[in-house]
Amino acid sequence: MARYLKARCKLCRREGMKLFLKGVRCVTEKCPFVKRPQPPGMHTRTSSKPSYYALQLREKQKVKRMYGALEKQFKRFFRSASKSKGVTGRMLLQLLERRLDNVIYRSLFALSRSQARQFVRHGFVFINGRRANIPSYIVKEGQTIDLRAKDTTKKVIKENIEINSKERSVVSWLEVDNANLKARIVRVPEKEDISIPVNEQFIVELYSK
Ligand code: SF4
Repeated sequence: MARYLKARCKLCRREGMKLFLKGVRCVTEKCPFVKRPQPPGMHTRTSSKPSYYALQLREKQKVKRMYGALEKQFKRFFRSASKSKGVTGRMLLQLLERRLDNVIYRSLFALSRSQARQFVRHGFVFINGRRANIPSYIVKEGQTIDLRAKDTTKKVIKENIEINSKERSVVSWLEVDNANLKARIVRVPEKEDISIPVNEQFIVELYSK
């Protein structure tokens, strides 16, 4: 599986916002975005107004990078959103939100989406009792996720819950049982449930050219 292996903090600086790609470091003063919020590179201080295309591109890159998808996979998500009933932009965000790695992250079991992906790849995640090993799997309404691991990993997950609870809370479309490391999707998330400052219409326009 292809993965992004370069410096992830540069992505936040490029997008001009925190994308929370590095777990606990993102909420400390060690976060490079706090120290250097300007885009990476030598000649980045420009006063010219970005073109409409640049705005569309940045919006797409922001969402893609936040959810940890690469271009090919992100396009696949867009195609499936455009085929489904409903407004394409909303459907796209809804699909991304229902990715298995994101659901684990939103349930507070992981410090970042990349750590959630690692849990899935290592075989700790079960959906309705069956092992799931695809982080981009789209979880459906009513399905239950549970994390089964050795005691050392369980300890890590419980520590994650404690750290995460100080910074964010579980989203309303999930029902989480911290003691048994279980989460249930009670309903599909709506745009209002997705706390990312994004103009999804820009992404739709970009891909519809
Ligand atoms: Fe982004 Fe986190 Fe790095 Fe800060 S620490 S720049 S939020 S990935």
